[in-house]
Amino acid sequence: MIFKKWMAATATIALLAGCSAEPAENEETEAEKSAEEAPMATPEPAKEETKEEAEPEAEAEPEAEVPEEPAAEATAEPKYRVNAANWRVEPISDAPAEAVLITIDDAPDDHSVEMATALKELEVPAIFFVNGHFLDTDEEKENLKKIHEMGFAIGNHTYTHTNLKTIGEAQQKEEILSLSQTVEEIIGEKPKFFRAPNGSNTDFSEALVAQEGMLLMNWSYGYDWEKQYMDAAALTDIMVNTEFLGNGSNLLMHDREWTAAALPGIIKGLSSKGYSFVDPDEIEGITP
Ligand SMILES: [Zn+2]
Repeated sequence: MIFKKWMAATATIALLAGCSAEPAENEETEAEKSAEEAPMATPEPAKEETKEEAEPEAEAEPEAEVPEEPAAEATAEPKYRVNAANWRVEPISDAPAEAVLITIDDAPDDHSVEMATALKELEVPAIFFVNGHFLDTDEEKENLKKIHEMGFAIGNHTYTHTNLKTIGEAQQKEEILSLSQTVEEIIGEKPKFFRAPNGSNTDFSEALVAQEGMLLMNWSYGYDWEKQYMDAAALTDIMVNTEFLGNGSNLLMHDREWTAAALPGIIKGLSSKGYSFVDPDEIEGITP
């Protein structure tokens, strides 16, 4: 079912070439190659494809910010749910619709702790999607602990950032489960969210993720893997002023130098446009 929704959401997903182009190795050719392999059928620039997805913005209500609540209150009611057709987070009942979700992928590499610290200072919750190959050393494990202890949600982004469509089921299982186990060994709990590298899910991985009790998500938009936005000022501007910004947008960023530099400005820009920030702990499927 999710897969069908996925197809229907090709519009949104065109933008998702994003993760495929993650400059993990900073190789343009590799990025282009994976973009072609990505599940997004439309190779065109996503902007036009996604137009219909951009909703008219409502009036800004800066006062309608989600109050910060202590995380992990067992009795808390979920306030948002992820729409698997477009990956937006939608309010349940009276939660503010004018909110966005901040997500940081390929963590915790060199900048995640800095990014978490900046978000914490701004009282903005976020999900850090981590990879096992960034959790090998004691220092890296310590960084994950710091991020977790600052209150951020941890997501599973597979052990080695391999495109799940290119490997068999046993290997997909290993990629997902071994990372969850590693995370649990470090912070005492398994990841509650899952995002596939390149946004590239399979029927098998979707079923496994659900079975493991993780909430799967892709994203609405992101730019920090594109050459012209590997610059803090340019990235800040596009993240705040893109036509794809709307209620419930799921914002994809990465552990990158320019993104870390841009992050406070991005948050301030979104706030000044009237957006509040969804607490991952308040998403349905996470909060019972
Ligand atoms: Zn990634």
